[in-house]
Amino acid sequence: METHTLSQEEHYIRREPYYEAIGDEIAIFEAAYRNKLPVLLKGPTGCGKTRFMEYMAWRLKRPLITVSCHDDLTASDLVGRYLVKGGETVWVDGPLTRAVRVGGICYLDEIVEARKDTMVVIHPLADDRRALPMEKLGQLIEAGDEFCLAISYNPGYQSVLKDLKQSTRQRFVAMEFDYPTPELERRIVANEAGVDAGLAEKLVRFAHMTRNLKGSGLDEGASTRLLVHAGKLIAGGVAPVVACQSAVAQAVTDDPDMLAAIQELSASLF
Ligand code: ADP
Repeated sequence: METHTLSQEEHYIRREPYYEAIGDEIAIFEAAYRNKLPVLLKGPTGCGKTRFMEYMAWRLKRPLITVSCHDDLTASDLVGRYLVKGGETVWVDGPLTRAVRVGGICYLDEIVEARKDTMVVIHPLADDRRALPMEKLGQLIEAGDEFCLAISYNPGYQSVLKDLKQSTRQRFVAMEFDYPTPELERRIVANEAGVDAGLAEKLVRFAHMTRNLKGSGLDEGASTRLLVHAGKLIAGGVAPVVACQSAVAQAVTDDPDMLAAIQELSASLF
């Protein structure tokens, strides 16, 4: 079990993260932050949400505390719990509590994955109470002006179970993220993978072909993240078709027919 003993210092982002703005998301986030409004980032996986949060944390000079939510994640995992250490029972803050205490930015990635009881602690923090109930300690801590709550959610999964309730979503300033425009995505892939413009352009074209398969056999097409992975493999000497197969096709599907179809797409380009 994680014990969350990192100091606040360790979450500061010292160097400016490379981030290409896709619209006016920086200004919107800043305005939300100044007004103490929580933020919801919507969008498919691998389109730059985490990178954006790193960039904003650097820009606002606040520590970033990221939690990847999963189906076992409970309110106690976020708030904290008593642990036995060397025969003594000590209270250990969870990441959300730590973020509130240090005035950090808490980013809960893929919030719908978490257990329902997490909402009990998120809701009071996400409205104008801005308070964190710590049931086990019998305390309520108020968040300072610098604290910010951000969550992400992928509406693409379209499952009732994986939907965000209105009572939750209507507390947040929602920002939609999507894959960057082809021009921007080429630049991101070239920069992140260290490949030339021509190769980046082909990878982006390949991504668009796979994205067109969404709904007809694929749940999601290739994300920007996967293109960066493929680019890195190619820069490392792997043949492009092989790189596309390992870094992209195998990552998005297990279906043999789909894998063959994607291989054909990449072979038509490279
Ligand atoms: P998400 O959090 O949406 O799943 P990430 O932020 O992890 O996605 O993005 C995946 C990768 O794609 C990043 O590590 C980065 O290499 C690249 N990337 C995506 N969008 C951008 C962007 N706008 N600027 C810079 N890099 C980006």
